Amino acid sequence: MGNFLQKMKKFIDKILNIIFPEDYKCVLCGMDLSDKNSVFCKECLESDIFNEGNRCVKCDAMIKKGNIVCDHCKNQKRYFERCVCPLNYNQIVKSAILKLKDDDALYYVAPFAKLIVQRLKEENIDFDIIVPVPSHPKTVKRRGYNPALLLANEIGKLLDKQVVEALTKNVITKKQKRLNFEERQINLHDSMTLIDKTAIKDKVVLIVDDIITTCATINTCSSLLKGAKKIYATAIARTNLD
Ligand SMILES: [Zn+2]
Ligand SMILES: [Zn+2]
Repeated sequence: MGNFLQKMKKFIDKILNIIFPEDYKCVLCGMDLSDKNSVFCKECLESDIFNEGNRCVKCDAMIKKGNIVCDHCKNQKRYFERCVCPLNYNQIVKSAILKLKDDDALYYVAPFAKLIVQRLKEENIDFDIIVPVPSHPKTVKRRGYNPALLLANEIGKLLDKQVVEALTKNVITKKQKRLNFEERQINLHDSMTLIDKTAIKDKVVLIVDDIITTCATINTCSSLLKGAKKIYATAIARTNLD
């Protein structure tokens, strides 16, 4: 019964969102916007939300001026060509993404997808198909959705590209925090499977996730997409490396 009520509430929320869209409010903090054409309020714009400055050419992490790649990309094998993320994972961005991930805040999907598309265009990144980072069925059931898939679908709509759920997640990964990078990779590698080899064969693939931290997830996904011609990755935001 509890589950039914939850689903009902989600359904009603979705309808309300269609009737009363969250337009004219800052996408990140929800403040009313004076300029109806902007997406962010002045305060958010001034608070370092964009992932800009000197960044790693491989993973888009912020790095010291004069450097070209970060230490992680220098020392670890990358199975993807490049990764780009429009936003910087600061407090404001973090709170918005957490709402999208766990709080049904689906009105974030469209504006975040637009930001990603804008960034892909700026970087001249072209691709054939989109593969979202998979979520375990249990996690999808709990949330009601996979944020990465919703983003992928929206990007697909905006750029007229096909979305293929080529990867599945079969094991809920253990807490990754205490593991080092290699252990994380093994842990992740064993938790996912490529289920659609034909769809990715000789294709340029764009992997979509919500947040990029160590690149362990997108790197593992990339390593599993064997047969793809080239792999790019993207997410809403990039955390800073320590
Ligand atoms: Zn704001
Ligand atoms: Zn890097």
